Amino acid sequence: MDVQKRKQKLREMFQKVVDPLGYKFSPDEEIVDFLLEQEVILEKEHGHPFCPCQGRTGEREHDMKIVCPCIPFHRTHFDAMKRCWCGLYVHKDVDDPESLIQISLTELEELQKEGKI
Ligand code: SF4
Repeated sequence: MDVQKRKQKLREMFQKVVDPLGYKFSPDEEIVDFLLEQEVILEKEHGHPFCPCQGRTGEREHDMKIVCPCIPFHRTHFDAMKRCWCGLYVHKDVDDPESLIQISLTELEELQKEGKI
């Protein structure tokens, strides 16, 4: 498999999925290129472009929820951060992805309980 061609294909396919969800690829091209390459490698090894930043458990129901783009399964969490966990995608209005904070779901729930978000 030609890695560059597959990365381009995934980019085109994923764009169509994330656009109606209000997301776009990060303006940080270096990150995008790196993460797509990791996904191509994971796809080659496991048959699906799994998330490079979230661990697989071997349990199909769980693992299929971290096939990229996993935004629909983590919508509340990602919307609160305005980015997906890896930072491959950001909300469409984000121009500076460096300004976004990555927070765990547990931290997010605590901040929400305290009314800080
Ligand atoms: S966290 Fe981002 S890069 Fe990782 S699978 Fe989900 S959408 Fe893709």
